[in-house]
This record gives sequence, C-alpha cells and structure tokens, in this order.
Amino acid sequence: MRRAGLVVWGAHQLAAGMVRPGVTTGEIDTAVEKFFLENGAVPLFKGVPGKVPFPAACCISVNDEVVHGIPGPRVLRSGDVISIDTGCSVGGWCGDSAITHPVGQVTPEVQRLLDCTAGVLALAIRLLASRSRWSDVATEMAKYVRDHGFSVVENFVGHGIGRSMHEDPQVPNFCTPAFRKNHDFEIEPGLVIAIEPMVNMGTKKVRALSDHWTQSTVDGMPSAHFEHTVAITEGGPVVLTAPPLAGETVGNAGSAA
Ligand code: MG
Ligand code: MG
Repeated sequence: MRRAGLVVWGAHQLAAGMVRPGVTTGEIDTAVEKFFLENGAVPLFKGVPGKVPFPAACCISVNDEVVHGIPGPRVLRSGDVISIDTGCSVGGWCGDSAITHPVGQVTPEVQRLLDCTAGVLALAIRLLASRSRWSDVATEMAKYVRDHGFSVVENFVGHGIGRSMHEDPQVPNFCTPAFRKNHDFEIEPGLVIAIEPMVNMGTKKVRALSDHWTQSTVDGMPSAHFEHTVAITEGGPVVLTAPPLAGETVGNAGSAA
C-alpha cells in the first residue's frame, strides 16, 4: 500500500505545482491521470458507480464545493480554494489522499479554514498513537473544529482501505452515541484507514448539485478537505500517502527505462 501511497503523493505534488489563477480544473485532472498511467498505477475514481459513473481521475471541488466535484472547464481565480482528492492502486493495493490549496491570495479567514482542516487531520493521526478506540479520536476532532468556530461535515466520512478503495469500517470525523454504541472500532495493528475531515466555514449542511456528484455547502460558504491513508503498525501509525523517506522512490522513478 505504501507504493500506491507514494504515487498518490507524487500526483499531489504535480497537481500542487499547477494550481494558479487561469488554470482549469480539467487540466489538473488530465495531468494527474497521465501521471498515474506513466507510473503503472490504476486511477481509482474514474468509473466509480453512481447515477452517472464518475468521469475523472480526481475529484476537484472549488470554494463552496465540499467533495466529489467534477473537473472540467472551470478556470481558477485568485481567492479560490481548490480541493483535490485522488487515489490509485499499484499491484492491486490502494491509496487515497486529498489536499485543499489556496489559489493566489485568499482572505485570512479562508486560510484559517485550510489550516484548521489540515490541523484536525494531523491531530487525528497523532491521536492514533495513544487512543484505543476511534470514537475517542473522532470526539477530539469534532471539538478541535468547533473550537475554531467551523463545522465538521457529517454527510460524508472516511473509510477503511486496502484491496478496495472503500472498505469497512466507516471513519467519521465526529462522534455520536449511536456510533460509539454500534460502529466504534479498535485502533490496532493491521488497521488501514483513510481519514478525511471535511470542514465548512459556515453550516455543516451540504446538498448535491444536478451533476449527481458535486456536493456543495447550502450557505455558499467555503469548505476544505484533507485526507491521508494511514496504517496502524506495531510501531504506531504510518502515513502511507506521506512524502518519500530516504531510499524510497515514487512510481517508476529510478527504475530502468
Ligand atoms: Mg479521497
Ligand atoms: Mg477517501
């Protein structure tokens, strides 16, 4: 799974370098799909079943779009935020990660939203080392976001990941009594989960657009989304979609031509 995670990381590096005013979301998606194919990876998002199959290698969601945005002719403008979510498989094992970028100059409040969302993902990964049940992590995630004055999206959650992109268990970024009672799970070696907080500046409520995929905030305020694929090992949590360590290579880099 680390091999897939490294290719996902590489795709995000490529995408991040393209984010600027004047670029279309479709151009970024095309580059990511090409990168996957060049590195022996299978894009996981394209063809995901729905009312219409998902048509792209990335979900790209701009401003008030929360998740599942469809890349296309939309031109990025300074002040936008762009959430790029993508995944691939290598050798039959999956990786999945998302990052929200500012485009050009964003307002301080928008930057605070991005920092809070990245921060709550980092908090969750840290807590995996010391907590025994997900409900305890999720409770602290929700508190962190609330303390920043923002809202955790509750319509969508993270997930187990392995041979398939979406496996059990469901991994919410908030905790309810029903979750604690019926769906809680142990944080133990062998568990691999995609943790993906979605944080709205305003209300947590979202709605689907007529394209059957894009989810937007109902109040039109911006949203952010960060995600990593994380394995629990005997030595603690390991972020599989993190940058390469010494001696690691991304995809086909370094292999014979
Ligand atoms: Mg994802
Ligand atoms: Mg995911």
